[in-house]
Amino acid sequence: MEFKPTIGLEVHAELKTKTKMFCDCLNNPEEKIANTNICPICLAHPGILPVINKKALKQVIIVGLSLNSEIPEYSKFDRKNYFYPDLPKGYQISQYDMPLCKCGELSLFLSNDLEESKRNIKITRVHLEEDTGKLIHSADGKSTLIDFNRAGVPLMELVTEPVIHSGKEARLFAQGLQLLFRTLGVSEADMERGQMRCEVNISLGKNEELGTKVEIKNLNSFRAVEKSINFEIQRQKEILEKEEKVIQETRGWDAGKEITYSQRLKEEAQDYRYFPEPDLPRLHIYSEGKSDGLFNLEELKKQIPELPWKKKERIMKLCASLGDANLLIQDEKLMNFFEEVIKEFNDIDVKNKEKVINLAFNYLASDLKGLMESGSVTLEKLKITPQSFSQLILLLFEDKISSRAGKDILAEMVEKGGEPEEIIKSKGLEKISDEGELEPIILEIIKNNPKTIKDYKKGKENALQFLVGQAMAKTRGAADPKSLERLFKKQLS
Ligand SMILES: [Zn+2]
Repeated sequence: MEFKPTIGLEVHAELKTKTKMFCDCLNNPEEKIANTNICPICLAHPGILPVINKKALKQVIIVGLSLNSEIPEYSKFDRKNYFYPDLPKGYQISQYDMPLCKCGELSLFLSNDLEESKRNIKITRVHLEEDTGKLIHSADGKSTLIDFNRAGVPLMELVTEPVIHSGKEARLFAQGLQLLFRTLGVSEADMERGQMRCEVNISLGKNEELGTKVEIKNLNSFRAVEKSINFEIQRQKEILEKEEKVIQETRGWDAGKEITYSQRLKEEAQDYRYFPEPDLPRLHIYSEGKSDGLFNLEELKKQIPELPWKKKERIMKLCASLGDANLLIQDEKLMNFFEEVIKEFNDIDVKNKEKVINLAFNYLASDLKGLMESGSVTLEKLKITPQSFSQLILLLFEDKISSRAGKDILAEMVEKGGEPEEIIKSKGLEKISDEGELEPIILEIIKNNPKTIKDYKKGKENALQFLVGQAMAKTRGAADPKSLERLFKKQLS
């Protein structure tokens, strides 16, 4: 039987502001000492009055504008009433029926094939609320401590429409959001540190009917998002195939066992008794065509940098056969470097340009990235410039140096700087294409390796590879392995 999974996501992200949402306490996720950044407002002492952090409003609106959301002219905060020990007020200031952003969409690509794999994930709303404190349970289970440093930190909540159909899509969406938040500078959105948290609801339906909705809470890694959905699809499928009923409930994710488990049954929706927050004014965000209101949306739009999916589309159009373009969009500095490199190829004719760009991308993605990782250095610490890097790529493309020599030159440029042409001259790395020059080297190697020659004559294929390797070492990579192979065969036939 075929069942179609329908998935919706709820994502919370802590905003990167200097102070908390409704008081002057520092919003410092690095704070190690519990209950340091607290005051009567975030501890909800009687008689306190919250004051709205305008920067947090602005950040959420910028997210909304980036997602093409509708920004209503007016918005407001509401009280969401529930009791939990990490919530000092006994209610959370949140937004109910007038969120800061309505609708919107985020584009993602399931593969590098732009047309085929593009998905626009529809977003229902983005709103602003405050985070809760943190409960710390003792190891013996006998006591619980509480840290209010996080209480009142601005928290953005984003809800998608139920338009996602697989674990992979959900993961890519969450990764896309993280990249967006980081690009906009509104949140670090580090999932492991709880700065971004995901909840998933999922149902399996037959034909066009929707099935019973199950919620999975507290997913704190991209892997958990994808794996828990895949597990849940399988679990619900097995229940439905036995013609049994899926129970509406909230489930948790056991990352060790990679299973979901029942947490609580959802007999009916919890009644939060929402009502407008009486201590805060209604928000006049802007007026269409007038300059009154808290923000000028046109000005805010100008502050939005190039969005990650636009950047990806641009890079992939530049060079359709490019490898994993994600590498570039996730690393702004590497991306800028690559763009500078590409500019140097402007004079190359169209026919060859794509090949050169590809070659540059491969050297960047594997060799340069490898050198950065092995030396644990960042791009700006390297001595290499985009201009000298592009020179090296052109020398490789024009077959003036071997790829082996290319790697050595790159390593030298990364460490000491300099132009590739100079390094080639000083190290004698020009490619030897004159076979007359190679002949004495070949003869010498044959003379010095009688055992290998015997092996070769017995038909051992790797004997030839060994000889070529010797010759490569002797010429310090300046010879072409293909011609070496041919010359050896000629001499030994
Ligand atoms: Zn405070």
